Amino acid sequence: MAGSRNGGWWQTKRRTLVAAAALAPLWALAQPTLDERIFDIREQSRFVPDKALAQLQKLQPELAAAPSYTRAEFLTQMSATRMRLGQNDAALAAAEQVIAFGKSLRDDAIVAKGMLAKTYVLFAQSDFEAAHTLAFAAEKLVLTTRDNPLKVQATITAGQSYAEQGNFPSALLKLQHAVDMARAPEGDAISLVAALNALAKLYTQVKEYDNASETLNELLAETEKLDSPGRMAMAKNTEYGLAIDSGQPRRALQALLKSLELERNMGAERMVGITLVNLSDSYLKEHNYGRAAQYAQEALRSTDNTRDQSTEATARVNLGQAYLGMGRLAEGKKQFELGLVRYEQENNKPDLQSTLREYGIALERVGDLAGAVAAYHRERAIADEMFEKRRQKAMLEFQEKYETEKKQRQIEQLSHENKVKGAEIDNRRLQQRVWWLLALVFALAAAVVGLLYRKVRHANAQLEVKNMELKAQSTLDPLTSLYNRRHFQDFMRGLNLQARDGADDIVGALFLLDVDHFKHINDNYGHAAGDAVLKMIAENLRIALRETDMIVRWGGEEFLAFLPAIPRSGVDDIARRILHSISSQALRYGEHEISVHVSVGFSPFPLMPGGAPLPWERAVNLVDMALYLAKAHGRNRAYGVRGFENFHLTSMEAIEQDLERAWRAGFVDLSVVLGDGPDTPTTPTERDNVVSIRHALQKH
Ligand code: GH3
Ligand code: MG
Ligand code: MG
Repeated sequence: MAGSRNGGWWQTKRRTLVAAAALAPLWALAQPTLDERIFDIREQSRFVPDKALAQLQKLQPELAAAPSYTRAEFLTQMSATRMRLGQNDAALAAAEQVIAFGKSLRDDAIVAKGMLAKTYVLFAQSDFEAAHTLAFAAEKLVLTTRDNPLKVQATITAGQSYAEQGNFPSALLKLQHAVDMARAPEGDAISLVAALNALAKLYTQVKEYDNASETLNELLAETEKLDSPGRMAMAKNTEYGLAIDSGQPRRALQALLKSLELERNMGAERMVGITLVNLSDSYLKEHNYGRAAQYAQEALRSTDNTRDQSTEATARVNLGQAYLGMGRLAEGKKQFELGLVRYEQENNKPDLQSTLREYGIALERVGDLAGAVAAYHRERAIADEMFEKRRQKAMLEFQEKYETEKKQRQIEQLSHENKVKGAEIDNRRLQQRVWWLLALVFALAAAVVGLLYRKVRHANAQLEVKNMELKAQSTLDPLTSLYNRRHFQDFMRGLNLQARDGADDIVGALFLLDVDHFKHINDNYGHAAGDAVLKMIAENLRIALRETDMIVRWGGEEFLAFLPAIPRSGVDDIARRILHSISSQALRYGEHEISVHVSVGFSPFPLMPGGAPLPWERAVNLVDMALYLAKAHGRNRAYGVRGFENFHLTSMEAIEQDLERAWRAGFVDLSVVLGDGPDTPTTPTERDNVVSIRHALQKH
């Protein structure tokens, strides 16, 4: 029995394993390991899956203690075997179990193994699209592992998927690569045979018969080395395919007969069924309808056992064709119809269509034109249906693509609009910010300007106050608050002196005062007492004189009063009043009583020596000379220059040089007013305190 562990192709493999484990105990040689047994079943499953299933089920109890990879391999073979037995649901469940197991172990090799197992089930279920997708995913995943046989297997499956998609260049590349990988030092014989078989079939399919032939030769040689009837049967089937397609019917028949012999020896029923169908096909091509019918009937007997329904369908069609060829119209039609029903049940549209075409040709050949037309119509309907399906699929794909592109465009447009809107919003925000900033700058500027303006106004106001203070300071004496000398000078400079009639009754008048023995006051009572005296004099002068009169602090303890308008006859009285106002009351300073007297020089103003007004400076100078005389003659008195006589006999300069001499010479008229108090002489002539000095002197 092929595929059993007691002989055949796998022994090479077993020896390699044992050699690798050179130090393994001897008993290990006698009893093959669980892995080795599963490996044997794996090959057996390809050709005699029913036996393989029984073998696998026997191994079940040993699995609980087995390593994870062994368990995964077991489940994988379980899936493959059930799939070959047409138990697709169980096969799928086992494959899913392997995938989940691999994922839980985070073992990519196991996951890929499961994915490949599932791929084969999907193929068996004619779910090609899902199968292709999974095949490519498994191939990708397997590349990250170091399981070389698995890599070759996945690469072959990917190549076959490409071929099924009609992508032959990619399919060829994959399968050539699979062969290269299997030929490499780490490659193994089984992998190489599998890869060569797939490549030879593909070359045949794409009608590259030279390459197919070359590959087939290598395949046959390598398979020979394996000493595996199953693999040889497969190789012979491949040879049949190439031979029949490349127009070598004899070689094709030879290959099939050899294959049939091998399969029968192995007990590979399913393979036998297929080979029998192929044999009937070969004889149909040679128009040997008898032999064709014979092999087709044999095939049906085989599929009765195996329940391989698709092979049964082909067998019925072949039988139908053979009957028709033999002129057995009714039987032929019956078998054809039975085959077609099977294809319809499988929903195998491509086979259904090609069979209907063959049916039509066969009916036409035997003269059943109505039947032929009916078959053609059915064939057309299926073709239309398939075309419509393809068209719909293409349409759907197109629509999907269009929708996707439309969505993409919409998304792009939206994102573009968003960008534009975003930019607009940004712009507006920026503008707002600029406005806010400007407003802020303006507000700040306004605030600053306002502040500056207030500051300037404040400064101006202060300046005005300062100016007023300065002006006051420049016009007033700080101690007495009387006008200072400079103010008086300014005032007099602005005064327009007019020549007045000598008889004019209202005149101005100048009084110059100097405190008598002021040094004594300072010395005896202190400087502060002196200041107090000066203040008191100023106060008394203010009281004694009018507000319109200008009182000036002329120097240290000298005062000047300018009275702008008084009766000429009243000048002496005012001098008296001044003397009296100061000396009449003593100043109380602490516990001291300080009595104060002043001497005064005075004159009406303006003086008109020779009819012309004397400038104010010279007038003051003259008054000062009169004051000096008053001091010299005893103090506490006032000497006034009343006027001039015989002026033409003298000059102003002469008078100014010596007032006393001019007075004695009779050129100047002086009046003397004596003050109160003990210092005052009490001569009878001075009783009323007013003395004409000229007269007095004349008396002396
Ligand atoms: P007389 O005029 O009677 O001849 O004697 P006198 O003592 O007043 O003499 P003099 O005119 O020479 O002296 C004036 C003094 O007045 C000198 C100075 O120290 C003092 N004096 C001047 N100004 C001030 C002042 O503002 N305050 C005080 N306390 N003393 C002053
Ligand atoms: Mg003085
Ligand atoms: Mg004095």
